Amino acid sequence: GLQCGIVGLPNVGKSTLFNAISSGKAEAANYPFCTIEPNVGVVTVPDERLDTLEGLVKPQRVVPTIIEFVDIAGLVKGASQGAGLGNKFLANIREVDAIVHVVRCFEDDNIVHVEGKVDPVSDKEIIDAELQLKDLDSVDKKIQRIDKAARVGDAKAKAELEILKLYKTALEAGKSARTVQISPEEAEAAIGDISLMTVKPVIYVANVDEGSLPNGNKYSDALREAVKDEGAEVIVISAGIEAQIAEMEDPEERELFLGEYGLTESGLSKLIKASYKLLGLITYFTAGVKEVRAWTIHRGWKAPQAAGVIHSDFERKFIRAQVMKLPDFAQFKTEAGVREAGKLAVEGKEYVVQDGDIMEFLHSA
Ligand code: GDP
Repeated sequence: GLQCGIVGLPNVGKSTLFNAISSGKAEAANYPFCTIEPNVGVVTVPDERLDTLEGLVKPQRVVPTIIEFVDIAGLVKGASQGAGLGNKFLANIREVDAIVHVVRCFEDDNIVHVEGKVDPVSDKEIIDAELQLKDLDSVDKKIQRIDKAARVGDAKAKAELEILKLYKTALEAGKSARTVQISPEEAEAAIGDISLMTVKPVIYVANVDEGSLPNGNKYSDALREAVKDEGAEVIVISAGIEAQIAEMEDPEERELFLGEYGLTESGLSKLIKASYKLLGLITYFTAGVKEVRAWTIHRGWKAPQAAGVIHSDFERKFIRAQVMKLPDFAQFKTEAGVREAGKLAVEGKEYVVQDGDIMEFLHSA
């Protein structure tokens, strides 16, 4: 599955947040949930459209789509030089698809701040610097590897070298690789084989005290200001509050509790949705009476590839797909109704599946 790695300095609230994620009772009644490894939590992606479909189809079960969070604890200043368990944690970050960077935006004299004071912008820069140093290493190594070929006139090596130099310049200036503006194809050619960490998409989580909900405080404001050029989302949450919400099984109780803090949705739910979007993922649905189910695909996938997430045979033996739009289904209530209204589309191999499509695949035996 696709994974988001939770990083941050020690004592910022990562474990508290991770525990809230992996103990989530909120959806447990209807939805599957499990923990694969101690530091990997699997959560269901909240999606109101599933409720709509459930109301229309009245299926035996509803299966939402999932996303995984990995708690990557132990990143400290000096990790790129091997401090703490530096290299092990850096290796973990290389494996995830996106980064959730938790930053401490709460004051509490009883909880030691590893750098001596609450300063989310400087904390973020410490983590970034460690990752950037490691990335700079990787870029330098690749430059060394292809430099000779470029000098003797290998056109491909020359083109890659030009792009690698852009990354080198950015990283040396204390910027993350994701700030380099080039096409995905050029990036893939130059750095696709060296798994940089700071090129991965990121979401910042400003962990505030409960008194600073729902909109944050001077610390989260400073963080927002500092990251505005990265185009990254900042989500204000209180990890302690999330832990309490995660324990509540009764939706009404949860809603009341959220309301007390001026929230309409839990921070976790916001984070899960934002992570899903950050990963470039979209959802299509299958809607049978046995099962209504959400499926995860990448934006831009065509119908056969999308069918392949259900079963690899569906991709190989794809013939065509029948597609309904949720608003049409909601209006006409049944597939027959949608068909009669002329809104049931039959699509072939080239159809690009859209977020929210209700799909039925036809394949050869
Ligand atoms: P980690 O080292 O980043 O995983 O941090 P932890 O989740 O273990 O949290 C460190 C300490 O800070 C724990 O004692 C938490 O209870 C506490 N903590 C976490 N979030 C908050 C918060 O929002 N407010 C306050 N006051 N304490 C918090």
